[in-house]
Amino acid sequence: MRLAPFVSALSVAALLGTPLSVADLTSLPSDACASATVAVADATAVNGLNINQCGLGGTTVTAGGIEVLMPAAGQAVTVEELVEAGSSVVTAYLHVEVSDDGFVSATTTPPPVESTIPLEYGAITATSARPHSVLVEAAAYSRCTDYSRSTSAWYSPSTIYVNSTERRPSNITKTAFEGVVTGGMGVWKNGTNNCGIARALHVPGAVAVGSYTYDANFTSTGGCGTADNRDVVDFGPIADSGVLARTCTWSTAGGAPYDKDIRIDTSTRSWVTTTTGCSGTKYDLRSVVTHELGHMLALGHATEFGGNDLTMSPNSAPCNSSARTLGAGDVSSIYVQPGG
Ligand SMILES: [Zn+2]
Repeated sequence: MRLAPFVSALSVAALLGTPLSVADLTSLPSDACASATVAVADATAVNGLNINQCGLGGTTVTAGGIEVLMPAAGQAVTVEELVEAGSSVVTAYLHVEVSDDGFVSATTTPPPVESTIPLEYGAITATSARPHSVLVEAAAYSRCTDYSRSTSAWYSPSTIYVNSTERRPSNITKTAFEGVVTGGMGVWKNGTNNCGIARALHVPGAVAVGSYTYDANFTSTGGCGTADNRDVVDFGPIADSGVLARTCTWSTAGGAPYDKDIRIDTSTRSWVTTTTGCSGTKYDLRSVVTHELGHMLALGHATEFGGNDLTMSPNSAPCNSSARTLGAGDVSSIYVQPGG
């Protein structure tokens, strides 16, 4: 139902047949809907508005160049993105949630970064580990001594489909792309690192390759669209320059994820799958895909622009392939599934 902005909240309630509570009425900014009934709105500007009263259902909201299709009532969507090192793109996170009764909550602040060696992981043995007491001077730490990490709700993908036939750059073979996703998932499953950190892991998710043409659920400009309950990795355009790849997470409001998709940018990007012969502004596909698969499992970004080259660092430089294997923060953050 799309309602004119001048309709009062009380008459809206009458139309909807569900009277608003006093709390609902006082939480609505004056003239709120008037500024919100536009096709594209600032995500933070629609905070506190009701998608039903303001006709926001089906609209696209943006923040810092990230866009998402407004979730339905009771649903949420999260965007995490990897950007070029030195890029002017600084907003690398957007979470938009709509309560069961239609109120929007949007934030660009990601979950906090932790940096101490996680005590619950008593089994960790590291040859050169030392803890961060505080998250400062990240560049002083190497990827094997930097335990910074961030996690949100854990997700257990069952089948991760690779769309290796559509929009794939001509210089990347089908086999190479499939190998990158399978290999990247293997890194998380095995906790592959060059830091001497040994952990027994049980990471779910089987990569399915073949002739799948399932699309990751992104909009035409690379924003998060509508979930289809199928986890997909594909190539496609991300209009926001400076962004290498994005992961979208769909969940119930305040609840668990039920769908995650990964898109690798094709709008302005050149990719390589080998560590030899990389030059210019090409990016290492395996490093970027491994990073995004970390998002698929639950990991957020590590130190912000700290230059530590952790797999979950929020940016990457051309030809940098260090994210192919995990650093201390990456491997220490992986949840050991029950039975693992
Ligand atoms: Zn990321």
